[in-house]
Amino acid sequence: MFRFLSTELDRILWTLFYPECPVCFTPSQPGGTCKGCLVVVPIQGPLCSDCGLPIKSSEIRCGACCILTKQFLQGAQSLLWLTEDSRKLIHLIKYEKRFEWLRLFKQIILTAQPPIGFEDAIVIPVPTHPKKFFERGFNQSEIIARQLATQWKMPLNLGLKKIVQTLPQSQLNRGRRTENLIGCFSWNQKKIPSKVIVVDDILTTGETLYSCARALKNKGVESVFGWTLFRTIPRDVS
Ligand SMILES: [Zn+2]
Ligand SMILES: [Zn+2]
Repeated sequence: MFRFLSTELDRILWTLFYPECPVCFTPSQPGGTCKGCLVVVPIQGPLCSDCGLPIKSSEIRCGACCILTKQFLQGAQSLLWLTEDSRKLIHLIKYEKRFEWLRLFKQIILTAQPPIGFEDAIVIPVPTHPKKFFERGFNQSEIIARQLATQWKMPLNLGLKKIVQTLPQSQLNRGRRTENLIGCFSWNQKKIPSKVIVVDDILTTGETLYSCARALKNKGVESVFGWTLFRTIPRDVS
């Protein structure tokens, strides 16, 4: 424990007194990235009312949001684009446990508004399998969901569980992504909430949110909305 604390302290002191950009390692202001690295890039409107991607001002929906709006998931929203630089920073936080960089994202999450019509919902993070949680020591979706639940004054609930260990979605193509997640999420509480906001770190094809929504709706949840901190950049958005 003390060793862990002293390592953390070292890192914080290093960040303060020997500031360098965590993404490209050039000198920068303490505790931040350099001006050239794009880490916090908000997704700006007007946005599709279903999937949260930018649309032309004359449109209401983007017409490309097939998976997200099918049957189980009412809609989805993301706060930031997943740039190459933010991907590198997430890797640093997730795999090298450089949690001091989380604060860059904590600040921007403070600007997030609850999805319209879900002001009375409960917040549920996308769960990780217990074995993975044990290996990693944390669930990044839970960290984000906790902050959102506090700032939106909504209850946080950890009743959605991952009961099957699956292959990482990032290693699979679109078809295999759906298959990979079938039956892997389960709601383990008697009480069935009416509205739920499912929170994840990154939205790529939406399959993970969709599978969580399917598990919840099959238990009788009335409506489910997906919220992620990052969204991968579609090929047609520059
Ligand atoms: Zn940089
Ligand atoms: Zn859309």
